[in-house]
Amino acid sequence: MQTQSRPLVSTSIGTRREFVSFHFGTPGAGEKIYVQASLHADEIPAMLTAWRLKQRLIELGNAGRIRGEVILVPVANPIGLSQHVLGQFLGRFELNSGHNFNRSFPLPAAATLIERIGGQWTQDADSNTRLLRRAVCKMLAEVKPKNEFESLRREMLIMAADADVILDLHCSLEATMHLYTSPASWPAVEPLARYLGASGVLLAADSGGQSFDEVHTQLWNEVRELLGQGTPLAAPNVALTVEHRGQRDVSYEFAQQDAEAIVDYLVYRGVIEGEPRELPPLNHPATPLAGSEQFIAPASGVVVYRAQVGAHLKAGDPVFDIVDPITDEVTTLTTKNDGVFYMRRAIRFVIAGAPMGRVTGAVPFRTGVLIGA
Ligand SMILES: [Zn+2]
Repeated sequence: MQTQSRPLVSTSIGTRREFVSFHFGTPGAGEKIYVQASLHADEIPAMLTAWRLKQRLIELGNAGRIRGEVILVPVANPIGLSQHVLGQFLGRFELNSGHNFNRSFPLPAAATLIERIGGQWTQDADSNTRLLRRAVCKMLAEVKPKNEFESLRREMLIMAADADVILDLHCSLEATMHLYTSPASWPAVEPLARYLGASGVLLAADSGGQSFDEVHTQLWNEVRELLGQGTPLAAPNVALTVEHRGQRDVSYEFAQQDAEAIVDYLVYRGVIEGEPRELPPLNHPATPLAGSEQFIAPASGVVVYRAQVGAHLKAGDPVFDIVDPITDEVTTLTTKNDGVFYMRRAIRFVIAGAPMGRVTGAVPFRTGVLIGA
């Protein structure tokens, strides 16, 4: 294992943070896998999973079983980790700018990349893919970040942009294990969904949020479209977000289980030498993110959940009540579709209009931006 530490641009004099990555295996000897945890800094189950994964990768590396290259960043967001305000840990948005740490990731524009590669494009899809990956990393390295936030995002993009597989480990509020990925990545992601025991897989080619995992696939699609059929390009990087249940689901048992599932997946892909573990059944088929039902509180009051996270609900089943102790009114929200109640808010008092939870649905009906703030 090799450790790298890259200093981030300092936004304020007298402060300095760093982006630390752990490198296993040999670059170029097989697939490149990039794994990072807790980009939303207050999503700690992912960090504990990454820590367990690190121990396993050290063992596997010592046993000479890593065939490719694995980069692990267990603490992807040192900026967010330090944001504690009046006793509250705020790791989702950067306090200086208000930006969500996992939205609007900047990759170079497709047209500029195509121009940069110019006459080097060939008729070989793999060669073109290597050219594109190299050009993306080179252009990212030329970017001069103005502050710590931009610097952090640039470091992670440079490390991930030429990876074959990008795993972005997060968690939700109160939730069951679920994944977000693109339809293009889904066939390659499916074995991991099985090993992780995911109860939901949400698919979108463009969620509207330009999150870390999805910008790679989007860039690929844009380049492919501009190049036209005459210039072939291999499949885009496999990229996904894993939601390691809810924020409070921090335990050695979950971390162990999830780290082992990732190791199983790497064995399955041939990055780690070994006999792949038999694939467990898929708990729930993948569904469109545009089909997932989002509950909005119609009134303010005390929230009483009627459904557990991970429950398989039928249309018309109660999801939660809102109790107004002044008027005695009790408002019940029910689901419109059959599906899995994969996440819910961790609050128990709600204001009118607040988002409250989501149930998977097989039929797309939402348009525009499909993910929350
Ligand atoms: Zn997150």
